[in-house]
Amino acid sequence: MTDSLHELGDARAFAGGVSVRVLRAGWFRPDAGGFFGVVPQPFWSRFVQADERGRILCRLNLLLIEAAGKRILVETGTGERMTDRQREIKGVEGGDPAEALRAVGEDPASIDFVVLTHLHYDHAGGMVDAAGRPVFANARYVVQRDEAEAAHGDELRLGGIMEVEQLDLVRAAGQLAEVNGEVELVPGVRVIRTGGHTRGSQAVLIGIERPGGRAGDPTDRAIFWGDLIPTRWQIPVRWTSAYDDYPIDAIEVRNELVRRAAAEGWWCYFTHDPGDQPIRIQATDKGGFRAAD
Ligand SMILES: [Zn+2]
Repeated sequence: MTDSLHELGDARAFAGGVSVRVLRAGWFRPDAGGFFGVVPQPFWSRFVQADERGRILCRLNLLLIEAAGKRILVETGTGERMTDRQREIKGVEGGDPAEALRAVGEDPASIDFVVLTHLHYDHAGGMVDAAGRPVFANARYVVQRDEAEAAHGDELRLGGIMEVEQLDLVRAAGQLAEVNGEVELVPGVRVIRTGGHTRGSQAVLIGIERPGGRAGDPTDRAIFWGDLIPTRWQIPVRWTSAYDDYPIDAIEVRNELVRRAAAEGWWCYFTHDPGDQPIRIQATDKGGFRAAD
């Protein structure tokens, strides 16, 4: 693990001819108490230490996926529209997805799909640039319909929390693709609505079974969890964050998906994990789950 602001990981192949790289687009420092929610400090501090302001250092990880001749970027980081004051409070360094792509020699105009797991600032803040234009000129932006509706809803808790202005600018530019539930974007890459963290949170499933595949083709599958499981530290399914809008749903859906991920050996990508990825999940003797060695 290095500390450079922008970094593109090695490509990894998955079933269905899908290639995945982690694009590290900077850092931010969420409040540890909020991030770990119901979990007491003696438990989480076994994995990570808070700074003198009670914050923990987390990555802004995006995924760059290539499949069926298309390029898919998952997440847009914090973008360039935050005020200096907001950046200072949240400890943001970097965070601009276009800058991150250019820094590693990739062209933002080459992106065909942008998947937003949900509309919080650290995932959807880079949908549009300072002038309000979509950062990815040739992309369709994929958002769950429930998430878009929640952003426009009147729930008091969500006031000022969702990137609704950016969503509307993308919609006005004709680049919004609202989806509902499980949808295949291209062969080998699908989004699934998970809810839990937010009403319309979605995860990305990578890799398909290839009954007619050639011997030697990769058969591995992977999942990008979004903030349903932001780091490997939060694999215990009851570890709900204070940022989970629907904690009971989050626990149920985590339990279902983590169980499958462990049983079927899915490789896991985490949006805020500072360590090397992907990793696998394994069951413990006590009936729980943890990061595999
Ligand atoms: Zn997040």
